[in-house]
Amino acid sequence: MDAIVTISGGGIIGNYISSRLNNLNIKCVVVEKNQEVFSSESNIRTLTLNPISKKLLDDIGIEVPSAAIKEISVFDAEGTGKIVFDASEINHDNLSYVVFFDDLLKALQESEHSKIIFDNEIVSINEDTNDEFCEVLLKSKDVIKTTFVAGCDGRNSNVAKITGQKSKRSDYNQTAITFTTISENIDEGRAFQIFSERGIFAAMPLPKNDHGATHTIVWSINNSKLKNQTSIEEYVSKNIHYFEKKLNTQYKICSDLISFKLSNHYFEDYISSSTVLIGDAAHSIHPLAGQGINLGFADADVFCEEIINSYNKTRKINKNITLKRYEIRRKKMNLLMLRSMDFFVELFKSQNLLLILLRNIGLSGVNKIKFLKTFFINHAAGNNKL
Ligand SMILES: Cc1cc2nc3c(=O)[nH]c(=O)nc-3n(C[C@H](O)[C@H](O)[C@H](O)COP(=O)(O)OP(=O)(O)OC[C@H]3O[C@@H](n4cnc5c(N)ncnc54)[C@H](O)[C@@H]3O)c2cc1C
Repeated sequence: MDAIVTISGGGIIGNYISSRLNNLNIKCVVVEKNQEVFSSESNIRTLTLNPISKKLLDDIGIEVPSAAIKEISVFDAEGTGKIVFDASEINHDNLSYVVFFDDLLKALQESEHSKIIFDNEIVSINEDTNDEFCEVLLKSKDVIKTTFVAGCDGRNSNVAKITGQKSKRSDYNQTAITFTTISENIDEGRAFQIFSERGIFAAMPLPKNDHGATHTIVWSINNSKLKNQTSIEEYVSKNIHYFEKKLNTQYKICSDLISFKLSNHYFEDYISSSTVLIGDAAHSIHPLAGQGINLGFADADVFCEEIINSYNKTRKINKNITLKRYEIRRKKMNLLMLRSMDFFVELFKSQNLLLILLRNIGLSGVNKIKFLKTFFINHAAGNNKL
């Protein structure tokens, strides 16, 4: 078997790259460790796509039900600081689009079905054959002769392990809980993020679904708060009223609760010889701004652009230049987002009165300064591309 790009990981980012490049006859195969996702019946987890990510999917013909967010209110529950982001401030119809994770993954896997090798994984990458190709050995003993190996295999990337790359990691000492609810009295298209002692609480609208759920909650809680609880369910039932009061609503929980321990990681180098790390394989961040998948799409977009550019210029691709250009264009942007998220997490963890005062003045101040607000919205909307 041979391919220009062998993709490790048939998640959202791996399949997006496969679809975009295969559509242009740049042959890709995807190697996915797990079985295919057959059903999205248990839809709970969501993703927030910015307009650029949504357009990338539209361009390859992938459409899944989505709920548009027109306005996001961010406020400090322990103070008076508040900032409101509105799509009209950047002349967009919407700020972002909420989709169910399983809906999107299923649609992409269906589209790429004939190119995905399920239930398999890369065991070794032999770079020694010649400059142009390397040989990828799979668990099934099949061999793929390939030019590039793209690690799109998530935060514990198998490709990074095989090449011996080491990431920098840090733990937020927080747990994220997500579930769906039926919520009353909330205008369509509105989302909220509340920073409080009880955690960072985000409520976003949901696309139409069989369970009648209207909103998704993503709630990040300091582990120290969970220490004395018998279960996460107990913490949620004791504390959700606090946010109901703040938002003048009532939540009826209509799904299981899913929880994740939160940490971040990033690699100093995204590339090693013929291999390259993309999306969560290269970096992961705190989910507070819902930007994880959007950074992955921005990486995938730039990677595809560089492959397409080199492939169109000459049939003999200069691997090093192609991959280096990708790394240069994406690494700084990703690190900037990671550092910004860390700054917000630390700022809102603090119980220092002076910091609480400053962050409230800061939030309300930014809300009044048009160019700063526009900068932040544009950044979240994915409009800043190198
Ligand atoms: C609680 C929570 C909420 C989040 N909310 C948001 C949000 O609102 N908005 C947002 O943008 N992001 C959000 N994220 C982040 C987002 O889910 C990730 O950024 C995104 O899923 C990364 O996509 P990916 O394809 O790069 O990696 P993954 O989704 O991790 O996919 C990796 C794929 O590789 C496969 N794989 C793994 N190992 C191997 C192997 N050895 N061989 C072959 N295949 C392998 C896996 O099975 C999987 O299919 C959230 C994350 C969390 C934890």
